[in-house]
Amino acid sequence: MPEMPEIQAHAERLSADFAGIPLKRFVPLTFTALKTAVPAPEQAYGSPLEEVGRRGKYLLARFEAVTFAIHLMQGGRLVVDTKQAAKPRGGQARFVFDGATVPALLLTEQGSERRAGIWCVERATEQTSAPLDKLGPEAATIEVDELAARFAATNMRVHGFLRDQRCVAGIGRRLANEVLHRAKVSPFAMTGKLGADGAAAIVPAIREAVEDGLAYERSRDDMSSSKDRPGRVHGRTGEACPVCGDTVRAVSYSGYTVNYCPTCQTGGKVLADNTTSKFLK
Ligand SMILES: [Zn+2]
Repeated sequence: MPEMPEIQAHAERLSADFAGIPLKRFVPLTFTALKTAVPAPEQAYGSPLEEVGRRGKYLLARFEAVTFAIHLMQGGRLVVDTKQAAKPRGGQARFVFDGATVPALLLTEQGSERRAGIWCVERATEQTSAPLDKLGPEAATIEVDELAARFAATNMRVHGFLRDQRCVAGIGRRLANEVLHRAKVSPFAMTGKLGADGAAAIVPAIREAVEDGLAYERSRDDMSSSKDRPGRVHGRTGEACPVCGDTVRAVSYSGYTVNYCPTCQTGGKVLADNTTSKFLK
């Protein structure tokens, strides 16, 4: 799933290409694409796109009166739509612009899950309206004190905490792996025990991992696929840790894998991988 760096760079490219162009109409192509009934998307008709911003993993297409909050989920993409076909493959919704050389943007979602969606919210209250109201602070700008307080208020595995958008916003599975490796913190550490020292290690690790991802993503003309994104441990099971040379290990859960380096993160301890050990029996 695209995370903060991919969404941020995507937002910047969309702003560069579409800001200043008035919206002609918004066309949902499925019954589930538009998640809100009020305010009406028509409130944006005729007004120029001011910018595409970002909050957490949401793209925010901002017009004077309303904001469209767009969540791409796993396979959603907002792509330039030159054909404007009646039934585009994977098409969820279309933003048609007025007088633009490229006339439309199409939200597509490949696969059968259909979880991407768009919320149309009042611009003035966008941050306090669903779905943005549930988000924790932006991961890339959180301060040590605030993260320490949030750690103390919960007691969950830190890998899960980082991925929970209500705790901090913008991090997913890949960045959680990369952040904890940089911070030399076990992905299975409980947040209740991390304290100020844990927060002080994790805050700079978040910023470095996000900066690396942003630098790579901003060098591209389109969104990367997950295998291209820079990283030291994510998706590198069995490879050598670039910091210490130990073998990168994995623990798999349904749908995602936690990668870590035993020497850097768990005092050399190798944690049982349920999936792998099942295959070995
Ligand atoms: Zn290592």
